[in-house]
Amino acid sequence: MLKSLAERDRDAIWHPYTQMKLAPDPLAITHAKGIYLHDAAGTSYIDAISSWWVNLHGHAHPYLAQKVYEQALRLEHVIFAGFTHQPAIELAERLLEILPQGMKKIFYSDNGSTAVEVALKMSIQYWKNKGLHLQRKKILALTNSYHGDTFGAMSVSERGPFTMAFNEYLFEVEFIDAEKPAFAGNWDEIACFIYEPLVQGAGGMKMYPAETLNALLVKCRQHQVLCIADEVMTGFGRTGQLFASDHLRINPDIICLSKGLTGGMMALGVTACTAEVYDAFLSDDRTKTFFHGHSYTANPLACAAGNASLDLLLEKECMDNIRRIVQQHQNFAQQNPQLNVRVSGTILAFEIPVEQGGYLNNIGATVHKKALQQGVLLRPLGNTVYIMPPYCITEDELEKVYEVMCKCADMQMCK
Ligand code: PMP
Repeated sequence: MLKSLAERDRDAIWHPYTQMKLAPDPLAITHAKGIYLHDAAGTSYIDAISSWWVNLHGHAHPYLAQKVYEQALRLEHVIFAGFTHQPAIELAERLLEILPQGMKKIFYSDNGSTAVEVALKMSIQYWKNKGLHLQRKKILALTNSYHGDTFGAMSVSERGPFTMAFNEYLFEVEFIDAEKPAFAGNWDEIACFIYEPLVQGAGGMKMYPAETLNALLVKCRQHQVLCIADEVMTGFGRTGQLFASDHLRINPDIICLSKGLTGGMMALGVTACTAEVYDAFLSDDRTKTFFHGHSYTANPLACAAGNASLDLLLEKECMDNIRRIVQQHQNFAQQNPQLNVRVSGTILAFEIPVEQGGYLNNIGATVHKKALQQGVLLRPLGNTVYIMPPYCITEDELEKVYEVMCKCADMQMCK
């Protein structure tokens, strides 16, 4: 007998963030269109979380597909040391135009974690190249942060279930609470401060006010601490502005991007920096080189997807869609005060009241399963339920997502 896809998957694959002993068989998705994922049995699911927050314009978008196809026929890949190509140059120029003021150079990598690794290594070496690294040994991050799964990214993330097995191998970091930002140490010893502006994603979609972060960034400015905005999740319209840093008065020195960068079409990471950072690496002394790069750095297909995604994102229609979603989220929050919903732009989140909250609470898996049965993909972070839809979701489709979310999170809580 022929094995089902689920059986073949079981035999051959180890899935991310999945306890393989306890997890149900994964759903095999055969194709997707717009906000809908379709499985082999003919069932469809609204992707209300943009497939781990990457998808901006809906799945299998013909314009993105066409641009990647055309690029694949022209130039699929070329080593990016000593060589360059049009898609990478165009994407860099366009990003520098729309990123918060002050960004001057684009460094490419493959994903969010590598974008963060690059940012951390740039900051550390910046001080080394200036001969001031002995005075600037500390790295500052926010409590409850999440910056990725590689070692540097884990080091600047909250110690918790994701890092538990590795804690003793992570480098030391000073953590401060965004809401009570008391830091006892000497600010002049800090090399860099990394933060997820306005919304801490994997840490439970925690939202904190721009004013709080502004105050911290002012302090960093006063003491020449390099500010790294990790906009891997918040970038490209998620918080209602193109970048979450656009809500702030102080611009970062370094910005990390990935996820929505290609509209969810290809894996790509970007670390943007100021001229001040870049210039610290310019030298006749080759030891001051930034020795970092990945095989697929600035992959032309990924860059072509990035350019195509920007085309769509910057169209009036997409900007209108973002505004519409923000408004609809706010209306939902107002009409359901009992849920204590919080909203930042197109991101909506709330907690299911449970005795012991947090990522390991199993209620998330239950909500996920129930919602799938009703045709909606939700993937709560423990007892934190959230929605982060592709921007092409219609008003009615978003209403359906609210409805299913409420039903699954119980509880006669919603109107
Ligand atoms: N930074 C933030 C803020 C993220 O949300 C994530 C991913 N959830 C990452 C970094 C890591 O990105 P990736 O999964 O692409 O490595």
